Amino acid sequence: MAKRDYYEILGVSRDATADEIKKAYRKLALKYHPDRNPGDKEAEEKFKEATEAYEVLKDQEKRARYDQFGHAGVSGAGGAGGFNGFAQGFDISDALRAFMRDFGAFGFDDFFGGQGAARGYGRRGRTRGARGNDLQIKLKLTLKEVAKGVKKKIKVNKYVECPECSGRGAKKGSDSQTCPTCGGTGEVRKVSHSLFGQFVNISTCPTCHGEGKIISEPCPKCHGEGRIKGSENVEVSIPAGVTSGNYIRLEGRGDVGPRGGPPGDLLIVIEEDEDDVFERHGYDIICDLPVSFSQLALGAKVEIPTLDGKAILKIPAGTHSHKIFRLKGKGIPRLHSYGRGDQLVRIVAWTPQNLSKEEQALFEELEKNSKSKPPKCGAKPFSD
Ligand SMILES: [Zn+2]
Ligand SMILES: [Zn+2]
Repeated sequence: MAKRDYYEILGVSRDATADEIKKAYRKLALKYHPDRNPGDKEAEEKFKEATEAYEVLKDQEKRARYDQFGHAGVSGAGGAGGFNGFAQGFDISDALRAFMRDFGAFGFDDFFGGQGAARGYGRRGRTRGARGNDLQIKLKLTLKEVAKGVKKKIKVNKYVECPECSGRGAKKGSDSQTCPTCGGTGEVRKVSHSLFGQFVNISTCPTCHGEGKIISEPCPKCHGEGRIKGSENVEVSIPAGVTSGNYIRLEGRGDVGPRGGPPGDLLIVIEEDEDDVFERHGYDIICDLPVSFSQLALGAKVEIPTLDGKAILKIPAGTHSHKIFRLKGKGIPRLHSYGRGDQLVRIVAWTPQNLSKEEQALFEELEKNSKSKPPKCGAKPFSD
């Protein structure tokens, strides 16, 4: 079967910019990635095809050869310098590796809009794999945990070093060798002469993709990636006073990079659970306290919940419904500061229902004999 045109595969014009090519490829690769289409041979073929096209068109030199000579210019042993790395067959593991190299771990890159994979890449002389992705996880906390601060153990699913090859990516007994193309620097320099003088062009080594080393036989467990999907138990101390949206960055606890590349960071984002009793307003907490008519009229000592346990609130005789009592320093501790917010207790008159005969008689008696009547609508009895 004749090979399809690389531009046609990616759906870009022949004068597409490097950025357009990268975008077009990323879209196709995400659509046909084997992780998203398990067992789908056709999708795998499409993924492979798109990656091969991308590998040629992203590289200025290869693209120029392809433009001039077509597929013959970039495949087989014919072309000077050849089609490095995958001269004969470009297989699925080559394709996956190429995708990983430029776009990082599948899926996570999406959350970070492509930032994760590129960050922390050393510009020069890098002899290790790329940096691993940053990961983000949510951590739910109760109000009590927020108030006291808490230590949490979290299981994080992520890329970990491949135990089979200790992250090298090479099969046991086989070795990775210094890249013959760049001599281990990860860069190739090309000197060109023109009317205006001599130019030195530095680009990423096409053989080792900048890693400085090449693997003769990939590790069978990680397919040469040097890392596998696994998990790690992470312990994190949350200070008192945090709130939803606060996050903690644990450096180096994200995905490990491919082939010994440095790890990304782990972001733990706080999510506060709603509390049954208290509503939080900044560092203050509010709760409603239902109290009977007679307690409000006569005064009472009532037990209330606080973040530190139970307390007694003294309600003076003649207290109106909706009066708010402020308990100084019984709120949430201020984050990275001193002191605590307050606890506000709002009194709510509680009306009895399903009265017994005796109760009904008492209320009728009270209503008949009571000298004080409620104020008219619009009066402000609750100014306190
Ligand atoms: Zn391995
Ligand atoms: Zn190299």
